[in-house]
Amino acid sequence: MATPKRILIAGGGIAGPSCALLLSKGGHQVTIVERAPQLRATGQQIDVAGNGVPIVKKMGIWEALKERTVGDEGIRFVTENDQSWADFPASKESSASSFVKEIEILRGDMVDVIYQRTKDTTEYIFGDEISALAEHNSHVTASFQHHPDRDFDIVIAADGLYSHTRSLVFGKDSAHIRSLNQCVALLSIPWQKSDTTWSRWCNAPGGRCACTRPRAKQGLTGAYLALMTEDSGKIARLPAEEQKQEFARRFADMEWETPRILEEMMKADDFYVTPVAQAKPESWVKGRVALLGDSGYAPSPVSGQGTTLALVGAYILAGCINTHDDVQEALKQYQQQVKPFVQEGQKLYPGVPGSANPQTPWGIRTFYSIMWIASLINSSGVLGTLSVLFGPLSALFGTGLQLPEYKL
Ligand SMILES: Cc1cc2nc3c(=O)[nH]c(=O)nc-3n(C[C@H](O)[C@H](O)[C@H](O)COP(=O)(O)OP(=O)(O)OC[C@H]3O[C@@H](n4cnc5c(N)ncnc54)[C@H](O)[C@@H]3O)c2cc1C
Repeated sequence: MATPKRILIAGGGIAGPSCALLLSKGGHQVTIVERAPQLRATGQQIDVAGNGVPIVKKMGIWEALKERTVGDEGIRFVTENDQSWADFPASKESSASSFVKEIEILRGDMVDVIYQRTKDTTEYIFGDEISALAEHNSHVTASFQHHPDRDFDIVIAADGLYSHTRSLVFGKDSAHIRSLNQCVALLSIPWQKSDTTWSRWCNAPGGRCACTRPRAKQGLTGAYLALMTEDSGKIARLPAEEQKQEFARRFADMEWETPRILEEMMKADDFYVTPVAQAKPESWVKGRVALLGDSGYAPSPVSGQGTTLALVGAYILAGCINTHDDVQEALKQYQQQVKPFVQEGQKLYPGVPGSANPQTPWGIRTFYSIMWIASLINSSGVLGTLSVLFGPLSALFGTGLQLPEYKL
């Protein structure tokens, strides 16, 4: 085991606290600085699949996550008249290739579970952020907006897709953000009987899509509005009230559950907008600073890999810091070992997300016909047979890469 270090993590989302939990096993002194005034335990459904599963088991939070699983029965593709075209029941396994995974959990619940496990071993500073970092031979001096300067051995930027800490160290345009020209709004609305226990997906012309994901037990339904637009980055940076106006305007003529979602959106307090984009910086390490999670390699919400990749990154980074006494060597190893997982996690099916969000009624019909055929194949068990025949393709679904083992 390496000698304990002083480690500063920017960002108290999923990646930062997961890394803190694993670092605490090496006896390091970890501080998390989170810009929000309190824990941001909000968000809709996220999932843990493939390589994320053994990691949450090593973190000791598998049972706690299972207890809070949302329990979708599956997903249904419906028309604006709520006519079902294709049903995909929930998978009983944790394969990364199914639509609905074994651990489907609200982001806020997962953030809370990890916070509860780290709050006694990690120093949390809320309502602040790093304003400058000065690197010296043996340490980094961090300056904060509201706290005095402090020295650390390692700094980790886990502050999301638009990471401010990344900009400070790597430069403003270092993220090489690849926009996929889609913007998604997420919020909770009151559950009603017609929501059943199935998620529903409904497309409308103009590259628009509305989805509902019921959480009947809590009397809530997660609602999503997705929009193909070249303005996605611009909309994501607007104040929440202006974002609401933008979505209301662009979805005004869509039928199905959309009028209900728009009405609830105006009063929703957990409304969150994210651009569908990937972060592709040239390097994840500079000196004593490392990028982690969305800050380093956001795969985009349409990859379905965001949480799993953040967990894999946290596990590898903590593993390398716990193993190598020399900071430069630890971070070099992290960069090398995480690379194949990032390359795989950022792979998208060709044409995604545009192919699943057609512009015309004809395009929607074609997409639904394909989903109908896929649902028939899925229910006949043919997919299972194909996965055996085409075993080597499993690498595409995140099961082909073996996680490194560390003494944790
Ligand atoms: C409020 C919220 C809701 C979300 N909802 C969903 C969802 O419904 N579905 C989904 O798939 N993904 C959602 N995400 C994104 C998802 O959590 C991430 O894509 C993924 O889990 C990777 O986690 P991360 O820790 O790298 O990033 P994030 O989970 O985005 O965490 C980054 C953290 O850094 C904090 N931060 C930002 N800037 C600074 C700064 N300068 N200094 C310090 N802290 C800073 C943020 O407040 C946040 O807590 C949401 C993210 C947030 C912040």
